[in-house]
Amino acid sequence: REDDQFKRLNVIVIGAGYVGLCTGIVMAHIGHSVLCIDINTDKIALLEQGMAPIYEINLEAMLAGCRNNLSFTTELPKRLGDTDIVIIAVGTPSKENGDADMQYVDQVIIDITSKIEEAQDLIIVMKSTVPIGSNQEMFRRVNNLLSDRGVQANVNFVSNPEFLREGKAIYDSFYPDRIVVGGNNDSAIGAVKNMYYPLLNKTFIMPQYMDQNFESSLPSLVVTDFLTAEMIKYASNAFLATKVSFINEIAGLCDKVGADILDVSIGMGLDNRIGKGFLHAGLGWGGSCFPKDTLALQSIAREYDYEMPIIEAARTINTRQIIFVLRKIQGLLKVIRGKKIAVLGLSYKPGTDDIRDSVSVEIVKRIVRLGGSVSVYDPVALDNARKELASDSVNFCSSIICAIESADAVLIATEWQEFLEVDWREVKLKMRSPIIIDGRNLLHKKILSEMGFTYVGVGR
Ligand code: NAD
Repeated sequence: REDDQFKRLNVIVIGAGYVGLCTGIVMAHIGHSVLCIDINTDKIALLEQGMAPIYEINLEAMLAGCRNNLSFTTELPKRLGDTDIVIIAVGTPSKENGDADMQYVDQVIIDITSKIEEAQDLIIVMKSTVPIGSNQEMFRRVNNLLSDRGVQANVNFVSNPEFLREGKAIYDSFYPDRIVVGGNNDSAIGAVKNMYYPLLNKTFIMPQYMDQNFESSLPSLVVTDFLTAEMIKYASNAFLATKVSFINEIAGLCDKVGADILDVSIGMGLDNRIGKGFLHAGLGWGGSCFPKDTLALQSIAREYDYEMPIIEAARTINTRQIIFVLRKIQGLLKVIRGKKIAVLGLSYKPGTDDIRDSVSVEIVKRIVRLGGSVSVYDPVALDNARKELASDSVNFCSSIICAIESADAVLIATEWQEFLEVDWREVKLKMRSPIIIDGRNLLHKKILSEMGFTYVGVGR
């Protein structure tokens, strides 16, 4: 290493999902000694063989590249005495009432606390997205549990919300726009800054397969208190979700007046105050974060009888997009019952096999409920969708051509680049009727229309 300021730390990451695994891999790559723990024995068995349990670009190459610094197991070690930092990255899904379900985090806190030793220094870094006030409350709880056990230890919390995007998770873990650390103890915050030193100063050696000419600015560091760090995470996701819903609302009006949302988005995004990102009209947002985090934020607001009409509207518009696409299909096919619809893309966005709260999966279910049959194809998410969509009316296809065979319409539900490269002329010959509903505005409307397709996009 060229930097002498780097201090190698012993880091435990709990939860080897999209966030925990990518974090663990990147921490190992920049030189820390990392132990990744997950209660899912199948995941750990795969990881021990160097295989990735989730689909994420560059993940397996990264795994192979940092095995010297990275090990996997299913349980916390008996002693935590040598551990400097424990990062918590377990799930916080929605409960029925919309609150974030803290059961996995709570369990982890109990497990960690039971292993903390006399006179130990330990920093617990919270990467899971947790409701406002959680870090402060957990800090108190851990210290109370320790005093119940009669253990004197120096245990601190740092809130360190994660902002990576699935599909670009490794890249984002190396080059985050910002690193947010919130806490009540300067030395703990300092230690977490040290953990990130190579990322904050870009002193790490870039993995071979990453674009070596890539130039990014250094990540910004935001140091704040617990509550504010937690709020930054929820506010960021709520804002991004709102931005997409905003453009979808405008797309709806474009449909009515005959304007083209693609050009509207370009024209708007060129204004630096607005920015290009998240102005892509389509079927709406899904995934494991925006739906649950907007719900959790509303739940928190309800505790104060505080209304959040913008977030409420963002969610309403998002649900409306599904109805909107079903109405488009009905408009074209008249009756869905007995018709075969090919749905291309099942993951909630390209680059991932994650189907949690995927709009595509919801649309498939609705088409089946309306009596249609669906043939589905996705480059990486088919296996995950099998259980979720198990039905005689759903046919899982291993190729696009198999999915569109004799279809009455095709719906593009996830913007995988692969769908751009399809020979649509060949597709047209195999379909029963050449109808494309481009739910992600991915394809070239003009070219497809010239081929003889009936092409319907969102707001164009
Ligand atoms: P995930 O479901 O992919 O992974 C969570 C993992 O934790 C699972 O593998 C599960 O088996 C494991 N786990 C649960 N209880 C455990 C325990 N007691 N001990 C060890 N392992 C345990 O979740 P994720 O998508 O990685 O999200 C994790 C957190 O990060 C969530 O709070 C989420 O909101 C947040 N987050 C996610 C993303 C994202 O894009 N996925 C981005 C930013 C933040």
